[in-house]
Amino acid sequence: METYIGLDFGGTKLLIGEMDATGKILRSKRYSTGFRDQKSASEALLSDMDDYRKTVGFEGTPVAAGIGIVGVVDHDRGEWVSIDHQITNRPFPLAALVENLLGIPVAVDNDVRSATCAELLLGHGRSTKNFIYLNVGTGLAAGVVTAGHILRGANNNSGEIGHMVIDLHSQEECVCGRKGCVENFVSGVGFTRQVKELTASYSTKLPIPENGARVDAVQLFQLADEGDPLCKAVTDQAAEALACVIMNLVRMSDPDTVILGGGIVSDGWLLKKVQPLLNAATIRGVTKGLVLSAFQPKNAGLLGAASLGMAKVKEADL
Ligand SMILES: [Zn+2]
Repeated sequence: METYIGLDFGGTKLLIGEMDATGKILRSKRYSTGFRDQKSASEALLSDMDDYRKTVGFEGTPVAAGIGIVGVVDHDRGEWVSIDHQITNRPFPLAALVENLLGIPVAVDNDVRSATCAELLLGHGRSTKNFIYLNVGTGLAAGVVTAGHILRGANNNSGEIGHMVIDLHSQEECVCGRKGCVENFVSGVGFTRQVKELTASYSTKLPIPENGARVDAVQLFQLADEGDPLCKAVTDQAAEALACVIMNLVRMSDPDTVILGGGIVSDGWLLKKVQPLLNAATIRGVTKGLVLSAFQPKNAGLLGAASLGMAKVKEADL
C-alpha cells in the first residue's frame, strides 16, 4: 500500500502521521516544539521525524512526504522563507533536508495552503475546481483555488486576507500597520481584542482574558445565544466582518464554493450567523454554497501536509 507522510508543524506542536490514498490517517504521533528560529525548528523536525521512523514506523510504503508550516514558504523551491511574515531570515531548504532523511520526494507549503491542498485532493475539491478555503483560527487567512490551481503569488504571500480592510473609519490598528483589518474582528486574536475593547461599553458574564490568554470561542457563542450584551456585540460584529470579507473575495476570484475551516468555525455556529448577511446578487455565482470543511480541525493540518506529498508524486499542477 502506497502511503504519504505528513508533518504538520505549528507554533507549539509537530504532528507527524501517515495517510493512505483515501485520506485516512493510519498512524500519528505528536511532538512538542516551542522553537525560536528556523534553524532550531528544522533541527527539531529532523530529529522528531527520525524518532517517528524508529518508534512508530510505517504501516504502508511511504512514497512522498509533505510539510505544512507557519510563516512564508516557497513551495516551488521547497524553502521555508520566514518563520513569521517579516522577510528577514535566510530561506531554509527544508524539503531537501527531509528528502535526505527519508529518501522520498518532499513538498512544503504554509499551513493554510496545505489545508487548501487537502480540500482540493480529498475534500470538497472533488466536486469543484474553483473555491476559496477560509481558515478562521488564531488568525484569518485563505487559500484561493482557481481552475484547480492554488494561488501563491510573486512572494508566496497570497491568501493573507486577514489584512483586508473592511472598515475605512476604524481606529483599530493592526500589526500590519493599517487600520480596520478584518482579522481584528473575526479570529481568535480578534475576539480577544474586541472583548477587551468593548468591555467598558457592555455588561457581560464572560471572564475577561488577561496576560495573553485568549477568549474561549465556544463560551463566547454560548453566552451570545443567552443574550449576553458583550458577547452578542462581539459576535454580531464578527459575523458582519466575515460576511463582508467573503463577499469581497467572491468578487475577486469568482468561486462556486466557499469552504470554512479552522477551530473558530468548525461547529457551524458562525456560519449560521453569516448566511443571512450575504447579499444575493454578490453570492449568486457561489452555486455550491458556503460549506464547512469536511475535516476535523485537529486533523486538517496533518491531512494538508500529507496531501502536499500526494500532489508531488501525482505531479498535480497545484
Ligand atoms: Zn492588518
